[in-house]
Amino acid sequence: MTPPPSSATATTIAQVAIPTPLRKLFDYLVPESLQASIGEGVRVQVPFGRRQVVGIVVATSNYSEIPAIKLKYVAKLLDDESLFQSSLFQTLLWAASYYQHPIGEVLHTALPSKLRRGEPAHQLQTHFKLQAQIVLENALQTLKRAPRQQALLQTIANAGTMSASHIKERGFDQALIKKLIEQDFIAVEETLPDQRNQPNPGISSQRDEIELNVSQQDALASIRTAQGFCCFLLYGVTGSGKTEVYMRAMETHLRADKQCLVLVPEIGLTPQTVTRFRARFSCSVVSLHSGLTDAERLQAWREANSGQARIIIGTRSAVFTPMSAPGLIIIDEEHDASFKQHDGFRYSARDVAIKRAQSEDITIILGSATPSLESLNNARDNKYRLLQLPERAGGAQQPPLSVLDIAEAPLEQGFSEQLLIKIETHLQAGNQVLVFINRRGYAPTLQCNACSWVSECVNCFAQLTVHSQPPSLRCHHCESVLPLPSHCPNCQSTELYTLGAGTQKLEQFLSARFNSTPVIRIDRDSTRSKKRLHELLDNIHRGQPAILLGTQMLAKGHHFPAVTLVAILDADIGLFSADFRGQEQMAQTIVQVAGRAGRADKPGEVIIQSRHASHPALSSLAAMNYADYARQLSEERQNSQMPPFAHLALINAEAPKRASTEQLVKSIADIAARIRPNQLETIGPVPAPMEKRAGRYRMQILFKSNKRSMLQQFLQQLCSEIDGLKVPAQARWNLDVDPLDLI
Ligand code: ADP
Ligand code: ZN
Ligand code: ZN
Repeated sequence: MTPPPSSATATTIAQVAIPTPLRKLFDYLVPESLQASIGEGVRVQVPFGRRQVVGIVVATSNYSEIPAIKLKYVAKLLDDESLFQSSLFQTLLWAASYYQHPIGEVLHTALPSKLRRGEPAHQLQTHFKLQAQIVLENALQTLKRAPRQQALLQTIANAGTMSASHIKERGFDQALIKKLIEQDFIAVEETLPDQRNQPNPGISSQRDEIELNVSQQDALASIRTAQGFCCFLLYGVTGSGKTEVYMRAMETHLRADKQCLVLVPEIGLTPQTVTRFRARFSCSVVSLHSGLTDAERLQAWREANSGQARIIIGTRSAVFTPMSAPGLIIIDEEHDASFKQHDGFRYSARDVAIKRAQSEDITIILGSATPSLESLNNARDNKYRLLQLPERAGGAQQPPLSVLDIAEAPLEQGFSEQLLIKIETHLQAGNQVLVFINRRGYAPTLQCNACSWVSECVNCFAQLTVHSQPPSLRCHHCESVLPLPSHCPNCQSTELYTLGAGTQKLEQFLSARFNSTPVIRIDRDSTRSKKRLHELLDNIHRGQPAILLGTQMLAKGHHFPAVTLVAILDADIGLFSADFRGQEQMAQTIVQVAGRAGRADKPGEVIIQSRHASHPALSSLAAMNYADYARQLSEERQNSQMPPFAHLALINAEAPKRASTEQLVKSIADIAARIRPNQLETIGPVPAPMEKRAGRYRMQILFKSNKRSMLQQFLQQLCSEIDGLKVPAQARWNLDVDPLDLI
């Protein structure tokens, strides 16, 4: 063990972030041998309780509030330089403080799991060279009875130094290298890989065929003139050529040897996006998504970190990818809810990306056909620069949108006869039809005819969804699965029936009704394997008449050129949503789904079935004017002082026992009441809209302020006081800053 330091002033203390729920840094003594090399952003191995853990040094100091005698030593230094470029590190520190999340967990979230476990940040290359002291001729002479070893030694001598793979390429096997090492003829050297910059990316010829339209040209010109940090909102209708603008903007940066980071909502769903970038640019493109193995993820991190990967495309957590030469960040579909993490470290990748671009002093482009009210508001306040692409590129027309009044119409599995006839017409003309319903499974309700019993989850205050493939009852909130009952558990009656319809029931119905046309169902259940999803998409892209039936998954980013009719079955759910963002999200979904129709030479149409056809929200949308509709919603938000006109933070408390939840939430409310500034509004505590989920009772308190800084200060004090609370057994709490919904 290292002896304790003699004088306090000479002691260097490392303040280390460790992945624990504790909102603090931990002080460790730095052994003298490491004092010169330890610094911010490096990993260290340290004793923590009874374990050894990997932590990240956030700062060094020569003072600790804890007496040196009680401090432990850093056991091992794992890096010789910071794992985070300083601008990224600053962004992460900001995120920890803004979202009030423990810094140790934040920094660890930003790293691939292999680095979290202590693997080397750089892949070292093994090289072989002649031992310094040997005389080549003598050595060759010694090896005259081993011609292969002799030949290898000569080859290495000629090359000066050779990597293992190089040696293998020359036809020498591993055993020969080993023998030369054993005889002390050659030495092993581990070096960092050669990180010469890649040559400038070539631009494929596809580029020259497309001539940008005037709006695209204007947008691009503005983006190109931006210097330093600048946030653009590229608001372009679906198919207006936003991606084309992204690619031209990227080209400028790639030519200047910079890297581009592109964040997209889902990669697995839209493999075309990555393909399109790969086809366009011949530089190294890495894609980061949930399907990667740990080794692949580490590899991608290394390539981005070294600058070798020039384009990084990824989902939410890719916002933390290191870049040695950042040039541009793009957030495609910036309004998409998947950019917000819903558990643990609840960050918004869009907002973190903006902060990061600021810290890197580079350009960021937020693109969408249906921008969030937040972003539209920021553009109105001139915080973002608004760029508009009001028309579809290449002459395709926006499909007209009509609302079909079904208040009086008899429905068959949710379809009016009028809609079924429309579908028939489009199929007969040789086209594809897209039917959108945001409900997977067979039916949302299983009910008993005799006693009205309804199947409910025992862990959640929610109904179980009936699934037909395989037959089961599933909870969509806690993932529990039960066998389908043959009789009512309450009265033993066998007269059980399903109410309402999900994608599986509609698939059955549509297949029977249009029996010569394939029905291609795309939802989370039908696409559990990536291969299956690709098969289904390939089927669609063959362009034969078909009915595409699906959820949200069908709405995002796809190009389905053969689709000429889009039918939205249940717009009413969003119209009357209890959540404050319900209408915004409904409008975004409708416009996005509608955008799949008539993208190529075939004109399309969009039909929305509604029992409330005269609802102003629907008529604004029917005019296909998302901007007007968003303005109207924005006014409502302003009147009710909700985001983006106020800032929210939501505290959730939960426990397996209702009394524990109540006790915890009350203690939190007491603290809040004591420290709350007057202008800060508190709503609650109230039970969460879904009061019980996954076996836990949930209650919440909402805080609201129109001053972000005031809310931030309050939250910081609140969290540190809650940390001092004695929390009832098994009770937990969390904080969601800028929550997307209040469910
Ligand atoms: P968005 O990203 O806005 O949905 P895309 O960039 O994917 O739009 O463009 C939609 C389609 O229009 C693509 O097939 C693209 O190649 C094509 N396109 C884009 N810009 C032009 C243009 N200026 N002229 C002709 N076609 C274009
Ligand atoms: Zn019954
Ligand atoms: Zn459940």
